[in-house]
Amino acid sequence: MSPFPRPDYRSLTRYSPDKRPVELDLSDNTNLWGPHPAALERVRAAAPEDLCRYPELYADVLRDAVARRFGVDPECVTTGAGSDDVLDSTFRAVYAPGARMVYAAPTFSMVEPLARMNALEARAVPWPDALERPERLVEDRPDLVYVCRPNNPTGSAPEAAWVDELIELARDTGSLLVLDEAYADFAETSFLRRAASEPRLVVARTASKALGLAGLRCGYAVAAPQTALEIEKSRGPFKVSRLAAEAAAAALTDGGDWLERVIRTCREFRGRLAEELSRRGLAPLESHTNFLLFPAPSGDAVADALRLRDLGVALRPFGDVPDVGDGLRVTVGPWPLMERFLEALDALLSDVRKEGGP
Ligand SMILES: *Cc1c(COP(=O)(O)O)cnc(C)c1O
Repeated sequence: MSPFPRPDYRSLTRYSPDKRPVELDLSDNTNLWGPHPAALERVRAAAPEDLCRYPELYADVLRDAVARRFGVDPECVTTGAGSDDVLDSTFRAVYAPGARMVYAAPTFSMVEPLARMNALEARAVPWPDALERPERLVEDRPDLVYVCRPNNPTGSAPEAAWVDELIELARDTGSLLVLDEAYADFAETSFLRRAASEPRLVVARTASKALGLAGLRCGYAVAAPQTALEIEKSRGPFKVSRLAAEAAAAALTDGGDWLERVIRTCREFRGRLAEELSRRGLAPLESHTNFLLFPAPSGDAVADALRLRDLGVALRPFGDVPDVGDGLRVTVGPWPLMERFLEALDALLSDVRKEGGP
C-alpha cells in the first residue's frame, strides 16, 4: 500500500486565492503605505555575508528585538518565517495521535489547512456561540484552541473580559490557547505581555501587516518560557533569513513615529470608508483592524469580487459570515486608493440596480 498521498491530505489543496495581476489589490490586508522605512534601509544596506552566510539558528536578533519592544524576556519569544510558520510550529508542538483543535469561525483561512497539515482534528465553533458561551470552545477538552483577535475576516474583537474568561477555562481543561494578534496594532487591547506569564497562552504576531513587511516573511509569538521552548523545538533552526530577521528587528526597535502615524491614519480612513459604505447601504461590521467587511452588493460575494476585479480592484469574498451573509473584505489604505475603490464599487452598484438586485 502506498503511503502517498497521505489519506488526510486527499482533500487538501494548494492555497489558491485569486492572485491574478490587478490594478489595485485590496485583498490581503498588507500595509498599503509601504514597508517600515527602517526595514527597507536595512535591506538596502545588505552586505555579502547577509546572503552567503547562514542566518542565526533561532533568529536571536529578531527574538531580542521583540523582547525589547514589548518588555518581555527573550526566553518568552519564538520566531518564524511569517506568523503562518509560527502557528504551524505551535500546532505541531502539541501533536500526538488523535490531537484535537477547536477554533472560532469564520476566521483566518489558513488555520484549518494548517491544522490538517499537522494531523490535528479541527472543529469549528461559530463565533456567535463562542461569544455567548466561551465554554463551547473547550467543552471537549481540546489540545489546542485557536482564536483570532481582532478576527480576520470580520474585523471584530471580543471584549478583553471574554478573553480573560477563556484563559481561565483553558487553564482548567489544559488546552493551549493560541491567540492570533496579527491585527492587534490597529486595535485597543492586546494580550501579548500577559502571555509571558500564562503557561497555557500563546500570542502570535506578524511583521506582515502593520509593519508592512509581508514579503520578508517574519512572525513571532510570546509565551511562557517552557511553552516558547516547546514551540522552538518544533520550529527547527534556520527558518528566518538573515536579512529578514535584521530588517524586521530594525523596524521593531525603531524609535521614530512611522508606525504610530500609519496606524492613526489607517484608523481615521477606516472610519471614513465605513461611512462611505454605510451611505451606500452597505454598512460594514465594526472593525479593529486595517480592513472592513461589508455585505456583497448583489448578495453573491464571489460574483461581485469577480466583477470588481474586471473593474481593476481586488477584494476578498467570504460566504456565510454571521450578521453579513456573503461579504467582501477590503483593505484600508491611502485615501486616493479608497476613492478608486469606491468608484469601482459605484459602477458595480449601478449594474446590480439595473439588474434589479436585492
Ligand atoms: C495575515 C495574517 C497572518 C499572517 O501572516 P504571515 O504573513 O504568515 O505572518 C496571520 N494571521 C492572520 C489572522 C492574518 O490575517
